Amino acid sequence: KKLGIALVGLGNYSTGQLAPALQETDYCYLAGIVTGTPSKVTEWKQKYNIPDKNVYNYDNFDQIASNKDIDIVYVVLPNALHAEYTIRAAQAKKHVICEKPMATSVEDCQRMIDACNKNNVKLSIGYRLHFEPHHQRVMELGQQQVYGPVKNIEANFSFVTDDPDQWRLDKELAGGGPLMDLGIYCVQGATYTVGQTPAAVTAQFGKVTKPTFFDEVEETITWQMEFPGGAVANCSTSYNGRGNRLFGRATKGSWELNPAFSYSGIQGKTSEGPMNLPNVNQQARQMDAFANCILENKQTSVPGEMGLRDVRVLMAIYEAARTGKKVMI
Ligand code: NAD
Repeated sequence: KKLGIALVGLGNYSTGQLAPALQETDYCYLAGIVTGTPSKVTEWKQKYNIPDKNVYNYDNFDQIASNKDIDIVYVVLPNALHAEYTIRAAQAKKHVICEKPMATSVEDCQRMIDACNKNNVKLSIGYRLHFEPHHQRVMELGQQQVYGPVKNIEANFSFVTDDPDQWRLDKELAGGGPLMDLGIYCVQGATYTVGQTPAAVTAQFGKVTKPTFFDEVEETITWQMEFPGGAVANCSTSYNGRGNRLFGRATKGSWELNPAFSYSGIQGKTSEGPMNLPNVNQQARQMDAFANCILENKQTSVPGEMGLRDVRVLMAIYEAARTGKKVMI
């Protein structure tokens, strides 16, 4: 049996990545949509063969509880709305995938986990790179200490933002700037390289060069993470720069992904040469893995607890940047 997924929020990521990926999945399929924009409905219904009864808006969304076609609700809304829709989905007894960052506060993350536990549904975060071969190799190289213990990690994910009106620059909806959106990939990359949670962080806000864009959220931030085993990560992210790299160095060798965090075209090498690994449909693998967890009643490798841990690290990075002090986690 293929499990039915309903996408909540039909923005860029749902349209450009998730819906196409759901045409390549083996254990789940695109069964329904939830949208606040009626003009999108006809095209989605036709393109993906979605029946009227599986189309919801934000007001009647809770009626999804009685829809047998929908097993999983996938929340793909602006960050500050993740908590409300994850909790409503859990109350409708649907399993949930929630996009990153899980929420804009640790408290919201905890409420989401509690709601899913209480309603006996599974919760996972849209961490697609856990299912990507180059990143899986990095986890192996670092965590299995193939080149000895990890000493140093460098990560940067940045791009240039050109739309001043988007929700990503709105503190209320985004929770913060590039750290919430892109820096989270650096936090993730460093934590799965060493297989540990950072113990302490320091951080610095960068210069604001476009004050009309960045009057609410940071334009650039750099930060450092200390891991319990002694590894140190140096990271940066910006909405006004370029970078897409994850580097690791252990006592007897090093590795680098560049580009590291893209949907495709990831390239990797180690101090011994190219990784020669395939690029795959990351989102198809991610959604199939979660569907399998449900079908076989197994635990997801990217649970809500991981999303909460990462939001806790992000909040510590902001605190460190604001106060100029080292923040223990
Ligand atoms: P987007 O702006 O393209 O789409 C957001 C959607 O939410 C739109 O359809 C919009 O109409 C809807 N929406 C509902 N209520 C809204 C409100 N109050 N304000 C603004 N929009 C509202 O954004 P996106 O790029 O699709 O990102 C959505 C989520 O997916 C974010 O949490 C983002 O971090 C995440 N994302 C994850 C990845 C990934 O690789 N895992 C990639 C892109 C986005």
